[in-house]
Parts: sequence; structure tokens; C-alpha cells
Amino acid sequence: MHSISNHVADVQTRVAHAAERSGRTRDSVRLVGASKAQSVDVIRAAAACGITEFGENYLNDALPKIEALRDLSLQWHFIGAVQSNKTRDIARYFQWVQTLDRAKVAQRLSDQRPDDSDALDVLIQINIDGEPQKAGIAPEALAEFAAQLLHLPRIRLRGLMAIPRPESGADAQRVAFRRMRELFERERPAAATHWDTLSMGMTQDFETAIAEGATMIRIGTALFGPRGARRDG
Ligand SMILES: *Cc1c(COP(=O)(O)O)cnc(C)c1O
Repeated sequence: MHSISNHVADVQTRVAHAAERSGRTRDSVRLVGASKAQSVDVIRAAAACGITEFGENYLNDALPKIEALRDLSLQWHFIGAVQSNKTRDIARYFQWVQTLDRAKVAQRLSDQRPDDSDALDVLIQINIDGEPQKAGIAPEALAEFAAQLLHLPRIRLRGLMAIPRPESGADAQRVAFRRMRELFERERPAAATHWDTLSMGMTQDFETAIAEGATMIRIGTALFGPRGARRDG
């Protein structure tokens, strides 16, 4: 557990420096711990070091963790593929869904969001590199898709999320992030009152993402160490 606190401190320092280099404040970047494959104890240790938001990819893995950590007031982000038969529990147990790319799923999440919770915060996932195997909508489809979400009463459209193709070196990484940033600024829907979140950047590229305007980064390996059995989605 000691190494978690070192990792958290290291990531926090790197985030602060990346923000500072771009003339931004540390507060302008939200850090979400990508905690897939991490145990309740590991998440609790990270929370003790000040991480308050966690992202999970698989509902069945996430629910027992959310339940076991209810004594902490953590925010949970769904960052995996949303299957339409899982929307009820996602709408109930998560505060954010970052991977919206189907209107039917959005409709179900809105319909199923419990009345005693705030509206569900959502991001539209963009397939920014046009990779056939990857989730997300095409950039050209954004305006029309966003328009379909804005009338749904129980979800609140906050912005965009992307997982660009991994590249090494800041110059190569920058390209997709910059296109995301331009899309985020250009396609702000007139009716979106909370359009404030651009989620991009992971362990390999979060400093470049911050330099290009990310307001939210999702970090797994740099916080928790390498995942054992990898089953990323
Ligand atoms: C696993 C995961 C991350 C974090 O990945 P790392 O490279 O370990 O930081 C971020 N976003 C999503 C959607 C993920 O599945």
C-alpha cells in the first residue's frame, strides 16, 4: 500500500506540472483513477491519498466495489462499453457515464436514473482515429447525436471523451488530442448548459493531453501499477 501513496504523489506532481506548463491551474484537471482489476483495498488506499473519483469498465466487477466502499463518498465513472441490458444498474450506481455512443442507451439511462439522484453526467465517446474496432461515434456525427441527447431529462451532457490510438512521443500524441479539443470547442451544442468536460489522457499520454486542453484524465497504471490479467475494454 505504501507504493500507492508514492504513485499518487508522483502522478499529482506530474499533473500539477503539466497544468502549470500550459498556464492552467491544477484544479482545471480532474483525475479519475481507472480502477478496473483493482481490489477494494487498493481503491481504499488510493482514496486515503486523496483520489475521490474512480472509473470502472465492467459492471459486474464494479458493483461489489461500489457497495464495499459506500462509507467513502466517492464518485464512480462508467468507462467501459455500456450494454443495454446493464443500464438500470449503471444509472443507479454511477455518477458519470463517459462512453455514450448510442441513442438507445442514452434513452434508457435517462428513463432509469432514480428520481432521488441528480441527473446522470454523461460524455459522448468519440472514435477520434476512426479505428474500426473501437467504440465511439465519428466526429462528423457529433452534432446530430448530441441533439438527440439534449432533450433527455435525467442525463446531463457534459462533453466528450476519447481513447486515441496509442502513440509514442508528444508530437504524435498531440494530433488526436488537438482534434478533440477543436471538436469540443466548435461543436458545443447551444442547448448544453454544462458543456465543460473533455476526458482524454491515460498513463502514457496524460501530460500531452493536459497540454492540449484535457479537463479530465483517466489514469490506471501510473496510480496502481501494472494490471495483472489485462482485459481492457
Ligand atoms: C484502463 C483505462 C484507462 C487507464 O489506462 P492506463 O493506461 O492504465 O492509465 C483509461 N481509460 C479507459 C477507458 C480505460 O479502460
